[in-house]
Amino acid sequence: MPSGSPSSAYTGIGNGKSRANPAWHNLDTTYLDNLRTLGLTPDSVDLVVLTHLHTDHVGWNTHEVNGSWVPTFRNARHITSRVERDFWAGYAMDAPRRQMFEDSVIPVEQAGLLDPVEVPGDGIEIAPGMRLLPTPGHTPGHISIHLSSAGQTALISGDAVHHPVQLAHPSLNSCVDIDATQAETTRRRLLASLAGTGTLLLGSHFPAPTGGHVLSESDAYRLGHQASGAGAASS
Ligand SMILES: [Zn+2]
Repeated sequence: MPSGSPSSAYTGIGNGKSRANPAWHNLDTTYLDNLRTLGLTPDSVDLVVLTHLHTDHVGWNTHEVNGSWVPTFRNARHITSRVERDFWAGYAMDAPRRQMFEDSVIPVEQAGLLDPVEVPGDGIEIAPGMRLLPTPGHTPGHISIHLSSAGQTALISGDAVHHPVQLAHPSLNSCVDIDATQAETTRRRLLASLAGTGTLLLGSHFPAPTGGHVLSESDAYRLGHQASGAGAASS
């Protein structure tokens, strides 16, 4: 999809959702068209991984059909961590969050498509080359996704790292981290594990070009975007 387009900036929100945040309210993006351009129809998607159950990460779970919110990817197993689902099940939600669950999480659950999985400390492989890692703090059951394919690796951090500035200053938390201390511990552990490796860090909220390699710099890190990365060597 075109980098920097409005649709790519709000991938997780969904279309037509009533949201208090004006930037997220009643969107009409080309997300599904973008997927089709890549050769993916909604019915061809068989796996959806939800790093956590925040509004901007669950929106495309559903779309509106005749006034009802129904699963967008009706043939897909929707994975989240058991800890994450259980946390929100016991959470005293305000009205906007309850509405979000009712239009974007519950319909998938009621369709039998939500699959909360136990994610042990050393992670769990859910498909060949796809491993879920526990990265708690932003939310209690937050997970990141480690991918390996054709000799290359990448890590989708979800909201364990919100912005590249947190590489230079790992102690900076997002105001929406539920447990700030745990979030920092997780972020430091994650960045240390990635530093100097060939694993591409794909931040869910990073500005374009989104992906980069974690490079050590003084007592912290920076995001490198070398064109000479492993992916450029294929031709
Ligand atoms: Zn979040």
